[in-house]
Amino acid sequence: DTVIVLFNRDLRVHDHPALAAACAQARRVVPLFVLDPAIPSGRRRPFLYDCLRDLRDSLRARGGDLLVRQGDTVAETMRLAGETSATAVFTSADVSSLARRRQRRFAEEPIEFRRFPGVTVVPPDLLRPSGGGDHYRVFTPYWRAWSGAPRRSIVGAPEAVPTPKGLRAGAIPRGLPYGGIEGGEGAARKRMRAWTRDRLDGYEDLRDDLAGDGTSRLSPYLRFGCLSPLELAACGNEAFVRQLCWRDFHHQVAFAFPDLNRRDYRPRGTTWRSDKDAEQAWREGMTGVPIVDAGMRQLLAEGWMHNRARLITAAYLVKHLRIDWRVGYDHFFDLLLDGDVADNAGNWQWVAGTGNDTRPNRTFNPLRQARRFDPDGEYVRRYVPELADVPATHIHEPWLLSGQAGGYPPPLTRP
Ligand code: FAD
Repeated sequence: DTVIVLFNRDLRVHDHPALAAACAQARRVVPLFVLDPAIPSGRRRPFLYDCLRDLRDSLRARGGDLLVRQGDTVAETMRLAGETSATAVFTSADVSSLARRRQRRFAEEPIEFRRFPGVTVVPPDLLRPSGGGDHYRVFTPYWRAWSGAPRRSIVGAPEAVPTPKGLRAGAIPRGLPYGGIEGGEGAARKRMRAWTRDRLDGYEDLRDDLAGDGTSRLSPYLRFGCLSPLELAACGNEAFVRQLCWRDFHHQVAFAFPDLNRRDYRPRGTTWRSDKDAEQAWREGMTGVPIVDAGMRQLLAEGWMHNRARLITAAYLVKHLRIDWRVGYDHFFDLLLDGDVADNAGNWQWVAGTGNDTRPNRTFNPLRQARRFDPDGEYVRRYVPELADVPATHIHEPWLLSGQAGGYPPPLTRP
């Protein structure tokens, strides 16, 4: 018997329950990835291609291969099932509306379709609040339930992947590298090991220090599943594990609301302003508010932004400029290497107070944030070179200086 393992955002061989089950149960295993035009492209493509090349190498080292096809995922999978006489498709369960549409379509095909865990630490439909409802709306009770929830065991990488010979492997395209970070499980595991060995202990103290760069930067790898979040959560550092719980939290919200990235329960009395120039200035890091501009320029340069800066820039867009959070969501989704529907939309909704946890008074004063998390202005100077010579006393309020620093604009709104 032959099983197709359909990869998606689980591009690894370690702790991959669907792959492990296929290798344990089937005589022949056909690993497949479909480059589907429905996958939102963003700038993540070259990173994705790195991940696919690395996965192919790992599977080949185990006697298997990664078949890559282009086209509609369900149609291509079924075509390959015909070619290989496969009787089942194993895949990792995901929460996006795209993944769920596919799942419904597979259910109508004459093949066994099985979903396995692996994208989150705890499956998104496992925990239900005791007061009723199908998901948790607020983080703290979720964190409590999540911390005590049973965990599946971590599965090792299969020793052998028995892929039939003679199948066309299919080309993996090349793209212009973006963000200067290498994709793939190999690079991910190297970074994970170095991070847990050298930096994890300092995480709690450093995680909000903008210039200190004390976070793991593992998010693009988690986004593509080059790392198992369950394996990472076994590191035991509570402050860090809590962040992985936030990731699960947003996934269980997305599971309950597949349209999380579009629905907008804006608080009563809020109206969004339309101001194309302000939107553009925000995107380009030219708002005239240094801490906001530093974050937006980090995003443009690296395809990644520090979490504290994401909070500050997002709050500035929705609370100060009063522009619809979905404008920000789209821009982040396009540029972030870790851009993900659940995490991006969940966090934007959280900042805007428009999601299911509507607390409209959550405010982030950019100046107070800047003084607290970038006290010497080092982060600002790194990304806003026009302000390189501004003294620390004025770095966050250059408009108070008599002459405006070379080419740097006055603030759109004074924070
Ligand atoms: P670390 O601090 O090292 O955390 C470890 C891991 O925990 C991260 O890699 C990430 O997977 C997870 N994590 C941490 N914080 C959060 C959080 N608040 N929500 C969900 N997961 C979290 N994260 C994404 O992965 N994709 C997104 O598209 C995304 N969009 C965001 C949009 C906004 C407006 C905001 C405020 C935050 C967003 N985040 C998103 C969450 C967070 O900013 C990033 O996960 C984090 O900055 C990644 O850096 P790191 O890997 O060094 O994080």
